Amino acid sequence: MIDQPYAYRHRELVEPDWQRLPGWADVSSEQWASAQWQRAHCVKNIRQLRSVIGAGLDERFYTDLERDQAERATMSMLVPPQMINTIVPGLSPADPAFTDAFYADPVRRYMIPVFSDRRADWPSHPHASRDSLHEAEMWAVEGLTHRYPTKVLAELLPTCPQYCGHCTRMDLVGNPTPVIDKHKFELARDDRLAAMMDYLRRSPGVRDVVVSGGDVANLPWPRLESFVAGLLEIENIRDIRLATKALMGLPQYWLTDEVRAGMERLATTARARDVSIAIHTHVNSAQSVTPLVAAAAKAMLETGIRDVRNQGVLLRGTNDKTEQLLDLCFALLDDAKIMPYYFYMCDMIPNSEHWRLSLAEAQQLQHDIMGYLPGFATPRFICDVPYVGKRWVHQVARYDRELGISYWTKNYRTGVEADDELALEREYEYYDPIHLLPEAGQEYWRKRVAAPVAVA
Ligand code: SF4
Repeated sequence: MIDQPYAYRHRELVEPDWQRLPGWADVSSEQWASAQWQRAHCVKNIRQLRSVIGAGLDERFYTDLERDQAERATMSMLVPPQMINTIVPGLSPADPAFTDAFYADPVRRYMIPVFSDRRADWPSHPHASRDSLHEAEMWAVEGLTHRYPTKVLAELLPTCPQYCGHCTRMDLVGNPTPVIDKHKFELARDDRLAAMMDYLRRSPGVRDVVVSGGDVANLPWPRLESFVAGLLEIENIRDIRLATKALMGLPQYWLTDEVRAGMERLATTARARDVSIAIHTHVNSAQSVTPLVAAAAKAMLETGIRDVRNQGVLLRGTNDKTEQLLDLCFALLDDAKIMPYYFYMCDMIPNSEHWRLSLAEAQQLQHDIMGYLPGFATPRFICDVPYVGKRWVHQVARYDRELGISYWTKNYRTGVEADDELALEREYEYYDPIHLLPEAGQEYWRKRVAAPVAVA
């Protein structure tokens, strides 16, 4: 009998042994389970990484990392111990194969990017930009993006417990890097949140609020609870989604008594008012789904919220293989009860070309995962097209594969097109990474980029 392209096997979730890492050899289970200990021991720089991993990681890696931070990184480094521990989970730094395995690791590839990961020819696409989704242009009030007719995104704060190298909101989120200065909110936090609430009270057409950041796990719980409680009092709001990668990166936080009790209060009120609260998290690799992550997701479900869903990002070197994606989806679904929901194509931010997939690759991956998962848990692959919004990757209107330009249409006006009669007739462009194009396409882009220089 011929083998199936993918063979499902239930895999037990495993918490890797943190004591294999020299810097945490004496850390107890109680310390590891403490959100406070995790936050206090996040790795924020090369010196701290060195003190955790020790000499087992070759010097060439640290040099590579240092150069990336100076010349390419759009996000500063911030990795909680929980995430560091899932990198090369089965190997001790004393193993001679450790450095190569660390380089190749799917989680390392996006949480601790190094200079040699990036494309030397096209580190950025010519159309890459900060705030590539133009969210700030669509702010109804500062931090509240009103892009879709019935949905808003509330960016409550510009920080997270972990910083991902490919962060879409690199314009706003995290600390400045030598390459990228960050946009700063002008209003003080509580004034900003009050302005958002005021806008939502005046917007009966909005029924769905994504409460995000940053990551809501960095907002003190009482402040988050009072914001969500305020949303629950607005008659027309029926769906509330809390965005937190920390459910995976810092599950210890979501397991604290304060958060569990507070979420239970919110879920009880939501149920009484027929409103759905869900947590949306961001897991990109199966090895990130550990028993602690599963415990946090299940603790949240036990509070009575509607669901915990995953929105991953397609990243080359992390999850660009069918097997990696299906392993991840089954790990989420089987024991963590997290619903696979979306995989986004990586957005067109600066220095992201080595991570980005072409539209054709994303379409192929969507094709290849069909039929293995239950239909309700089969994630959709999404291209977030600037000035359009989320489109399934097969919804493309036209696709020029030689130039790597896809053309998209839309069926609603975003916040910046209220008076634009042609908004629904226009085609909007999205771009494949240039290094994947046939030679004629690459030549087209070389000439386009060279042209302004030649004129000058
Ligand atoms: S958790 Fe989300 S918002 Fe924070 S750095 Fe990662 S991708 Fe960006």
